Amino acid sequence: MQISRSEELFKRAKNSIPGGVNSPVRAFKSVGGNPVFIKKAKGAYVFDEDDNQYIELINSWGPMILGHANPKVEEAVRSAIKNSFSFGAPTRREVEMAELIVSMVPAIEKVRMVNSGTEATMAAIRVARGFTGKDKIIKFEGCYHGHGDSFLIAAGSGAVTMGVPDSPGVTKNVANDTLTAPYNDLESVQRLIDANKGQIAALILEPVVGNMGCVLPKPGFLEGLRKICTDNNIVYIFDEVMTGFRLAKGGASERFGITPDLITLGKIIGGGMPVGAYGGRKEIMNCVSPQGPVYQAGTLSGNPIAMAAGFTMLSYLNEHPEVYTKLEKTGDKLVSGFKKSLKKLNLKYTINHIGSMYSLFFTENQVTDFEDAKTSNTALFGKYFHAMLNKGIYLAPSQYESLFLSTALTDSHIKTILQANEESLIEIHQ
Ligand SMILES: *Cc1c(COP(=O)(O)O)cnc(C)c1O
Repeated sequence: MQISRSEELFKRAKNSIPGGVNSPVRAFKSVGGNPVFIKKAKGAYVFDEDDNQYIELINSWGPMILGHANPKVEEAVRSAIKNSFSFGAPTRREVEMAELIVSMVPAIEKVRMVNSGTEATMAAIRVARGFTGKDKIIKFEGCYHGHGDSFLIAAGSGAVTMGVPDSPGVTKNVANDTLTAPYNDLESVQRLIDANKGQIAALILEPVVGNMGCVLPKPGFLEGLRKICTDNNIVYIFDEVMTGFRLAKGGASERFGITPDLITLGKIIGGGMPVGAYGGRKEIMNCVSPQGPVYQAGTLSGNPIAMAAGFTMLSYLNEHPEVYTKLEKTGDKLVSGFKKSLKKLNLKYTINHIGSMYSLFFTENQVTDFEDAKTSNTALFGKYFHAMLNKGIYLAPSQYESLFLSTALTDSHIKTILQANEESLIEIHQ
């Protein structure tokens, strides 16, 4: 594999972009080596600047659920472009988009479009605070909700103390209002609430975590949180930026049969364009301006080109339930193949999997929270990552990410991936 053009570009990039990338994980820091610069993609494949071809298992961190450059989405964007790129005024498409989201996601009665997942989560907690008149929020260690200040918070010492900033630039005062609990631990949530009686506005989590690797909720966890939130007048927020329109047409809330108060969306919702959204119970969403007093706005929100891509993507998913059957089958085939190889090689690593999301953790422990995930051998993951890349399989460049499958993967791709996986596992253990 030749990567001289990518190396050259990365060198240049570091002169004019912090770290050479516009989002940190892309720099390959946690796996080492030089990031590959992508030139184009189609279906199940991405191609880099050196014309290497890879089978895709990231899919832009989710949005390319139908594979790259889906012809229907492409045609919708082409057609929208002819009518100019932005108006900053209401459009028919925004109404259709909102109606479609409401019809697909059972827990959403009203929805507001924004431009990223980060914007969606920031707005959701503001609305929750405005609705309840309370300040504090609870999040979970290892869950990622974008780069808003309130979420870049690490657990403080001791179960009931406030959080501490997890990045320079986040103030202690902001950190004071964010409490963190271990994922899958209902009791510690109850302890936080008892220690902060009447002060918690919202509880936010990834109903299936993608951002510490793929981690599933234990049976009863999501239900237990629902009850705790109801009992304590806390707005229950599912961050479905990854799981929305992926784990089911209506996302994780539909799949698990839970009704959160608010849901945040991103990634798939834009079909590859920068789009996010938040929505949920009418009485909460009616707090959003101009209907209510909670301010939130966006010059490019509901952008016509982005809406054309997103609406076409969601319409397709809505009208083709076989997409989800196929994704389930692809996920099952891949993961059972991985498990076979692990067994054959006498390796006891953990695979977490649901639908079209999975992670192979280089640890023999079960992974149900961030502490478990951190027992992974990340150096070994780095070797595995590069072994796979060399064999033409493009994985997420970090142990702490989920992989995302698309409908473009065929049985022949699956075979290729499984073979590369087995060879890579052998290679890194030599
Ligand atoms: C990606 C992600 C975000 C942030 O979305 P951006 O569009 O990158 O701002 C928020 N929450 C979750 C669960 C995510 O996976």
